[in-house]
Amino acid sequence: MANLPNNNPLGHQGPQATPHPANGYQPNNPHAQTMRRGLPPLEPSQSRIAYTKATYPRIVKSLDGLLAEIMETTADAVRANPNKYIALLVYGGGNKIKEENPNLTSDIENFILGLTIAGNKRIRVVDPPKKYTDKRGDFAKPHILLLHHGSPELRAYLLWYQTFAFQTEGRKIAFSALRFDANVRPWFITDIVGRAVCDDPEAIQEGLTTITSALAKDTNFRNHVDACLAKVENPRSIDERVQDTLKGFEMHSTRVTNREKKEITVWQLFANPIANNGLEFKEWLKIITSRRYIIDEIDEMFIRCKNLKPYDSCAFCKSETHPEEQCPFPLVADWKGPIPKEVRAERAKAKEELATKNAPLIERNKH
Ligand SMILES: [Zn+2]
Repeated sequence: MANLPNNNPLGHQGPQATPHPANGYQPNNPHAQTMRRGLPPLEPSQSRIAYTKATYPRIVKSLDGLLAEIMETTADAVRANPNKYIALLVYGGGNKIKEENPNLTSDIENFILGLTIAGNKRIRVVDPPKKYTDKRGDFAKPHILLLHHGSPELRAYLLWYQTFAFQTEGRKIAFSALRFDANVRPWFITDIVGRAVCDDPEAIQEGLTTITSALAKDTNFRNHVDACLAKVENPRSIDERVQDTLKGFEMHSTRVTNREKKEITVWQLFANPIANNGLEFKEWLKIITSRRYIIDEIDEMFIRCKNLKPYDSCAFCKSETHPEEQCPFPLVADWKGPIPKEVRAERAKAKEELATKNAPLIERNKH
């Protein structure tokens, strides 16, 4: 059964499990933040197309991640002028969605025009040329469109709310508007499975300590941290740099539906990345995930082996931290966007179970 929507997109245990109001406390970990942060933008007088108004979980994608599927020359143009564009992450798959809705770009363009925000007259929504022309992009991720020529008011509005779900002529569409921001990098590192993995806060702490103590002694990790930080701060000792970086590590337990449709507990490791660019970020992830971690030298925690990840990442919103059936977006009240296949299957199953459970009761009531 999927988790109910709440203000805590990761279903975290621990201090971050406290719900936070939209403009109040927000955790440092961007994956645990919601949208509508800071001062709200000016509201348009009216919107021609109704859309779901909710406080959504924040989507965190790096600039390189957003541009991963896009042809190099186009990607370079965006990198050169990031403020001229907004990435529109379309929910529900890659190329497939365009086959299902050939009007996708004009539907989204009309929706944005319909927001009646000053300076949106010249906007264009385009499907940028891709690196690969073969079919393997069907569910390629993340799949983005580009919004070109938005006024500052329009940009502020789209980026503050981030996610929009609406219907037009029966077609259900949802997208998130994301800034091309070289300073944004995901904190999520990996899922962790193994015998030791459970909901007990002490066990989680022990797991985290095992990881941070191993990394504190890892030469590759130490040298990487030192090299990255040397570029941006005053000289200080490598030990200080490593200790400070390891303070930004967090681990949380969460319940996920695995590939066999069973609910299991996984640990999720997060850290504030110290990388200055995409290459350093890749290296950071590689160093942390390519070594082994063993609690008390006997109990191994298994990380980031493709065949050990217990669930497929969400193909709907492209988040790596939950499977599609647990996607928080379609669970939002009054969601007007599409419903992913796994969620529809989950709902059908729940309905069927309820019907079976109630059947004998109805029989009894007849007598
Ligand atoms: Zn999702």
